[in-house]
Amino acid sequence: MFKVSCLLSPICNITIAMRAVIVMLFIIPFFTVNAKVSVNINIEQPQHHYAQLTIVFDKFNREKTSFHLPTWRTGRYEILNLANGIRDFSAVDGNGNSLKWKKIDKDTWQVQETLNKKVKISYQVYANQLGKRTRHIDDSHAFIDASAVVMYSDFSRDQQHLISLSVPAKWQSVSGLDLGAAPHQFIARNYDVLVDSPIETGINEHHKFSVDGRSYELVIWGKGNYDSAKMVTDLKVLVQQSKHIWHSYPFERYVFMVHATSGARGATEHLNSTIIQRSRFKFSSRKDYLGFISTAAHEFVHTWNVKQYRPKGLVPYDYQHENYSTLLWLSEGSTSYLQNQLLLRGELMSSKEFLESLAKRITGYIHKPGRQSQTVAEASFEKWSEEGGDYDKNHSVNIYSEGFLVSWLLDFSIIEKTNLEKSYRDVHNVLYQNHKIPKSFDEADLVAIINEITGEDYQDWWQDNVHGIAEVNFDKLLAKAGLTMSYGSKEKNKQKAWSGIKTKQSSHGLQIIAVEKNSPAWQAGLMLDDIIVAINGLRITGKDLSERLKNFKPKERLRVTYFRRDELDTRMVVLGTTPKDKLKIVPLDQVSKNQKAFFKQWTGIDFPSS
Ligand SMILES: [Zn+2]
Repeated sequence: MFKVSCLLSPICNITIAMRAVIVMLFIIPFFTVNAKVSVNINIEQPQHHYAQLTIVFDKFNREKTSFHLPTWRTGRYEILNLANGIRDFSAVDGNGNSLKWKKIDKDTWQVQETLNKKVKISYQVYANQLGKRTRHIDDSHAFIDASAVVMYSDFSRDQQHLISLSVPAKWQSVSGLDLGAAPHQFIARNYDVLVDSPIETGINEHHKFSVDGRSYELVIWGKGNYDSAKMVTDLKVLVQQSKHIWHSYPFERYVFMVHATSGARGATEHLNSTIIQRSRFKFSSRKDYLGFISTAAHEFVHTWNVKQYRPKGLVPYDYQHENYSTLLWLSEGSTSYLQNQLLLRGELMSSKEFLESLAKRITGYIHKPGRQSQTVAEASFEKWSEEGGDYDKNHSVNIYSEGFLVSWLLDFSIIEKTNLEKSYRDVHNVLYQNHKIPKSFDEADLVAIINEITGEDYQDWWQDNVHGIAEVNFDKLLAKAGLTMSYGSKEKNKQKAWSGIKTKQSSHGLQIIAVEKNSPAWQAGLMLDDIIVAINGLRITGKDLSERLKNFKPKERLRVTYFRRDELDTRMVVLGTTPKDKLKIVPLDQVSKNQKAFFKQWTGIDFPSS
């Protein structure tokens, strides 16, 4: 028995004295067993965007203790320098005596003489970052992502946090966090749970519902053209569809937070909640509403993909540095891909709308020169330093859109290899079953999972599509599910002139905002930020170039006069061609039984009747 346990023990071969030291290190905690952190957030005068924080920590057994604010927040893989909104920091011990402190880097306040003392730190936070979904306070509400507001120490990160808010009368506070005993009070099991459970407090609309024994809440801040009764009805349907991918829920309660506002859009996933921001008038038309419910589906998929299982490199989170991974395409692109599973199966998106969105994606891939320059693995790793804009479109891929593409290719490959028995959904179910945090997964784990599901070796596939430039024949791909691409009935004759430029009317004039690599404009040498003033000697104002191009035919020459850094110049553009009509995805003329079955295994719905 001893021999067996000795073989299994990593500390078996070291001396008894060393073993004793190691055991002591594990047994003696840094704090008492019930150590916890009490956080008070005072928002009694919200009109100036300020919050006053006081955080009380139990005794530290260290002479000096560092307190940090994270330098990024979960769900946004970008350094945000969140500590730049902190002022008036101070620290006292349990008796109220001031403690000396100094700032040692941009995110770290080091407090001296903390040995065996309770420590209370206080500081002011300026919260006016609505669109970043980090912290925003005004006279109608506060949105608090704790990673932008609440400091932590490495020695308190595992402790329970009790959060108490002091807010104006009539404000209502909602969060995915457990509720505390008093109003506006929440409990987080540890700091990681706290930063992944934002708090929305203010004047808001609040709905509750339950599905499959789980409680849900919808809280909406802001006026807008939304129909909250319809939102509740559809969210009820949406959340049930997750069972088609994963077979259980990782939460008891889930909160959808919505900001119907101006000047902010986007959404972020959290542990058992999400924050969705939309323009206040972008809820009503079918197109806008589909955008809202698709975002809700995306964020809900994240409750498993990212929050329950996450690539190595992001487990555990390092709040002070970039968390590198070559698999962010799976965290984001596969989430975009799987959101359609929920929408289609719940009939929240029609097959027509699904095929329209797929056609739009394919058009995007066709006009994405960056697909020749970067792999999805590289894009994942480089996400932390992504520039965006013209350069990225021409030289990079996007973890969302190209991550969707690789997920799609993998799904079709698995469906085909398993004779329609399995799909990419099974990969995600295995990740949920076997790689739940605190475990993680890497590329080798994924290849092993796919090998197991298909009975084939996917190493080469992985190399070609994840670490290589995926060459896709879309017609061939779509044909597997009985579909094809079409630009209209007489597509060959329906071509129009194409320059490859995108413009916008800025205060300087008609400004180039994108030039597609290798397009006619690119060949001619036109550049981002050039201000176009004339075409063939005729002034152009207030009109997009595409309007003027309607007067030209493919291969015609265009004399473009423009300002570049206020210097006037001219270039000749030989116009190219582009299909006149939008790309459509339509059923093949002849669709076999097998193709229809393939479509059903892919989408969960019947093949569309033409
Ligand atoms: Zn996402």
